[in-house]
Amino acid sequence: MFASLDALHTELRACRLCAEAGHFIVSPPIFSGPAGARLMIVGQAPGRMEQERTHRPFSGPAGGRLFRWLAEAGWAEEDFRAANYMTAITKCYPGPHPSGRGDRVPGQEEQALCRPWLEQELALVQPQVVIPVGGLSIQRFLGKGARLVEVVGRAFVRPADDQRLTPWAQQHLPPRCQVIPLPHPSGASQWFNVPANQALLRQALAHVQAAGQV
Ligand code: SF4
Repeated sequence: MFASLDALHTELRACRLCAEAGHFIVSPPIFSGPAGARLMIVGQAPGRMEQERTHRPFSGPAGGRLFRWLAEAGWAEEDFRAANYMTAITKCYPGPHPSGRGDRVPGQEEQALCRPWLEQELALVQPQVVIPVGGLSIQRFLGKGARLVEVVGRAFVRPADDQRLTPWAQQHLPPRCQVIPLPHPSGASQWFNVPANQALLRQALAHVQAAGQV
């Protein structure tokens, strides 16, 4: 356990575990936010833009869409970034997908190697709201069977909804923490073409807005 979030960040920035284990992954790890952040966004992994240029989470095209959603929930981008924590299931760029479409999904071993970092982030930040973004992150908190249509639009509150949270989430989320899932803000997603799914997204953003009010 690290003594402070700054100490964790110093070690995390130097992490090369995946490359040392032989995985194609591109440093540096990408994350941001202060200790004591009320909201924590947990994405899948950073993209090429974040890795090559900005070194800021969600600063590529998908991030643009995410921040348009968060604007609906009452957050200006820079205010959100300054006040809240942003991280990912794996924190280094996993490279392009072999098909050439989008980015590679981090494998199970990479996810396992990076899991202790997220556990430490949760322990040191103690967020009151966790927002898993995209299927991989949603599965970490709500299980592999979690379908977007069943979980987007809902807020899962500890401990009342513990039966819906994974054992890992129950172990590592702070008491009374809410989990508010969002779909991945990819422009390629077909999920948003269904009007009912748009309504679920609006419900989710209403939860984010309510949760962000102190
Ligand atoms: S993805 Fe996580 S575990 Fe892997 S090298 Fe990056 S920070 Fe380390």
